[in-house]
Amino acid sequence: MKIDLANIAGTPGARGRFAISERIRASEGAACVGPVTGELTVENAGSLLLIRGRLRATLKLTCVRCLSEGEQEMDLEIEEEFASEGAGDDIQTIDRDEPELAAISDYVLDAHEFVRQQVVAGMPMSFLCRPDCRGICPQCGADLNLAQCECAVAPGDERWAKLGELLKGGARRD
Ligand SMILES: [Zn+2]
Ligand SMILES: [Zn+2]
Repeated sequence: MKIDLANIAGTPGARGRFAISERIRASEGAACVGPVTGELTVENAGSLLLIRGRLRATLKLTCVRCLSEGEQEMDLEIEEEFASEGAGDDIQTIDRDEPELAAISDYVLDAHEFVRQQVVAGMPMSFLCRPDCRGICPQCGADLNLAQCECAVAPGDERWAKLGELLKGGARRD
């Protein structure tokens, strides 16, 4: 959805409320289940445009240990400031050099791009399907949450070495 902010941008103190429902594409390791929904308020605060509101998304994420998929709710509190070119580095500018990355261009808010940036920025760095996920066996790939595999005591393991010594000792006693 594109939202024309020209009227708000031209009138100090003006504000507008916009209902948001945007489907965004998956990015690395995560996808959204259904649309991102919520409401945004855009306000002309003199030299800045303030975008505030709340967005909700359901993420489908991949567990970093066992690679299984799980869902997680995300509730984002939005508070962003946009200014025209020349603003400080910490404030997003309305007309950037890379228009495909700018959520606002020519005072039109690209709600899809804005929502996508907010969701990507708010994604958890690493997701665990459960806090004590045991992961997968590095040797056979078995999901250790389901069952312990046979690789736990590998040949060359010192427990085998001790068993070997015991067997040798037994042989000598014979
Ligand atoms: Zn897991
Ligand atoms: Zn294994």
